[in-house]
Amino acid sequence: MKIVMLGAPGAGKGTQAKMIADKYEIPHISTGDIFRANIKNGTELGKEAKTYMDQGALVPDELTVRILLDRVVKADCTNGYVLDGFPRTIPQAEVLDAKLSEMNEKIDYAINVDVPDENIVRRMSGRRACVNCGATYHLVHVPPKKEGICDKCGNELILRDDDKEETVKNRLKVYHDQTQPLIDFYTAKGVLKSVDGTVDMMDVFKAITDILG
Ligand code: ADP
Ligand code: AMP
Repeated sequence: MKIVMLGAPGAGKGTQAKMIADKYEIPHISTGDIFRANIKNGTELGKEAKTYMDQGALVPDELTVRILLDRVVKADCTNGYVLDGFPRTIPQAEVLDAKLSEMNEKIDYAINVDVPDENIVRRMSGRRACVNCGATYHLVHVPPKKEGICDKCGNELILRDDDKEETVKNRLKVYHDQTQPLIDFYTAKGVLKSVDGTVDMMDVFKAITDILG
């Protein structure tokens, strides 16, 4: 099963993608996580990506597509995957589509996690991420057991640089300009399913599993 998660930054794509990956035993592939791992390890890719990410801008398609295509041909992807944060532009979706067509494959579901802009800024300011394993928490909705410490690996939790309010506003603008058109793109392919992302995360997950079966 090949799934694409759509939705504004902070809509809960990562939260849901991790649960989908566990339940259906497919890898969770987040381009944002791949970039952050590269930044942490000080790679050239990380240095380049960081200049865009810190402004809330998109990393150029050419770079992003390359890392994604390298990832989806790995052995663990034979039974499918859940893509989180990719595609974010029509050209990215077209490249993915062409690559899948070459292999006689396609995206089975594009799940749009729908959350209005008003809720997003509040959500992002409360998001805390583990510097080590990438687990995410929310100060109010999903607090860690011990303040500032990851439940899973014991490392420090931080507010991501790009979750600061001004950057979030820019990311939302970029989302509406460049990513939202993907809703029409996947609707035309007959694979788009929208779920209400404003409800409790387990209820969002229930709506998604009702769709995926
Ligand atoms: P995205 O991957 O779309 O950027 P995340 O999954 O990281 O979004 O979620 C953004 C923030 O909102 C996180 O702090 C997360 O814990 C919280 N969150 C996710 N889903 C919900 C929900 N249904 N209700 C409330 N908070 C949520
Ligand atoms: P995310 O973790 O999905 O919220 O992504 C964080 C940031 O990484 C984004 O704001 C972009 O700067 C960059 N990024 C992640 N995925 C992509 C993508 N598919 N295309 C371009 N930039 C991306």
